[in-house]
Amino acid sequence: MNKAAFLDRDGVINRKAPTEDEYITRWEEMHILPGVFEAIALLNQAGFRVIVVSNQRCIAKGLLTANELDSIHQRMCNELAALGANIDGVYYCPHEEQPPCSCRKPEPGMLFAAAREHQVDLSSSWMIGDSDKDVETGRRVGCRTARILRPRANADGNPDVLARSLLEAVQQILRVEESVNDRQEIGAVRSNRRSNHAVNRVVTKG
Ligand SMILES: [Mg+2]
Ligand SMILES: [Zn+2]
Repeated sequence: MNKAAFLDRDGVINRKAPTEDEYITRWEEMHILPGVFEAIALLNQAGFRVIVVSNQRCIAKGLLTANELDSIHQRMCNELAALGANIDGVYYCPHEEQPPCSCRKPEPGMLFAAAREHQVDLSSSWMIGDSDKDVETGRRVGCRTARILRPRANADGNPDVLARSLLEAVQQILRVEESVNDRQEIGAVRSNRRSNHAVNRVVTKG
């Protein structure tokens, strides 16, 4: 099984459109945020599948077609890959808020689909986003969560990690992962000692 880092797109990978009812509809409007390719490359090196999960109801609104959105994502992946940052999958919800669908975050449909297709163990994975919806989505499927704070925003949703950028979030996540690995190694050493001890006793007895 793989571990994954699920990344929200707008406000995490690229600069958000100026207001809530504006959308990125052309490549020229995609401004990749500072540190993003370094952050994704670090996740690649640490063995995470990097999977984008994005609400894009601009499709339902008819502001761009699914093909146009796919080509923006293709170009985003290509540009990042050219810098050594590999995205393993891009999922988006094209639906409106009503009627409810199973994929619009905080619904967990995209994470479940990605987990099936990429053999992901959700409990060893992270959801990284800039809204409390992202944190809630991760929570619902048993991921740990990282919240990127927008300027002047305060944190809600109680994420495991709080950061000002994707790079800062990833650096913190890797520190958390290291400390988990350390604890597991200490646990392994302890259980080895126990079994050595058991062996010694058997030898002494004999
Ligand atoms: Mg966002
Ligand atoms: Zn949907």
